[in-house]
Amino acid sequence: LGDLRSAIDLDELVLHYQPKVDLRTEKIKGVEALVRWKHPAHGLMYPDEFIGLAEQTGLIRPLTMWVLKEAIRQLGRWRLDGLGLDMAVNMSVRNLQDAQFPERIAKIIETSAQSARGLWMEITETAIMADPARAQELLSGLNAMNIMLSIDDFGTGYSSLAYLSQLPVREIKIDKSFVRGMLKNDNDAVIVRSIVDLAHNIGMSVIAEGVENRDTYELLKQLGCDAAQGFYISRP
Ligand code: C2E
Ligand code: CA
Ligand code: CA
Repeated sequence: LGDLRSAIDLDELVLHYQPKVDLRTEKIKGVEALVRWKHPAHGLMYPDEFIGLAEQTGLIRPLTMWVLKEAIRQLGRWRLDGLGLDMAVNMSVRNLQDAQFPERIAKIIETSAQSARGLWMEITETAIMADPARAQELLSGLNAMNIMLSIDDFGTGYSSLAYLSQLPVREIKIDKSFVRGMLKNDNDAVIVRSIVDLAHNIGMSVIAEGVENRDTYELLKQLGCDAAQGFYISRP
């Protein structure tokens, strides 16, 4: 815990970026920023090993801000290089409870002298359902700042699409558990197909994560899924 606190100040965190491919054009349309910790003694550590701790202790607040700052900086650099990519950053359920969250983001965007153009935030379906009223308020605030919103790990959180359709969300990310199983398990394939159709009917686009092979990629294309992300395309 002590190490994590100083890791944020000492810039021991790094972002790895995983591409999202548009299945119609087969071009990379953006990336997701995924945080790692270059620990001086333990080597490269993955978020599953420290995000939970950060959430329990409140360190998730500075951590999220570090990630946002770094992601926006990288977005600006790519833009200077002529790369018009979108950038997605993950937010935690704890960020929802922070009433000043939109203000803090606005400050970061201001001080980095860059606009939020192309900036997405991903929030899990479970986090939204933990406090739907709060989520509605926060997501509206972020939407008003032209930040685009995506529902992460969709299919695991027992929400109703009727409810989600009222949120200012543009994209649904199908949880990788369904995507990874869809070739072997008919139920998973049916679920993926249903999510794609339902999302399109309420005007949202759909991305599948956890695409690990060519057959899954081709099947998603056939089903009309809009985008794909996964090891088959590239590791983060
Ligand atoms: P996530 O947001 O669902 O991110 C996707 C995870 O799936 C990433 O793991 C990614 O490396 C992995 N993945 C990508 N493609 C494939 C694939 O084809 N197959 C399989 N099996 N896995 C794939 P990672 O980077 O270890 O991140 C784990 C989780 O940690 C993320 O899940 C997210 O919930 C959290 N996380 C990562 N970075 C941040 C961050 O900056 N802030 C917050 N709050 N959470 C973060
Ligand atoms: Ca995510
Ligand atoms: Ca996910």
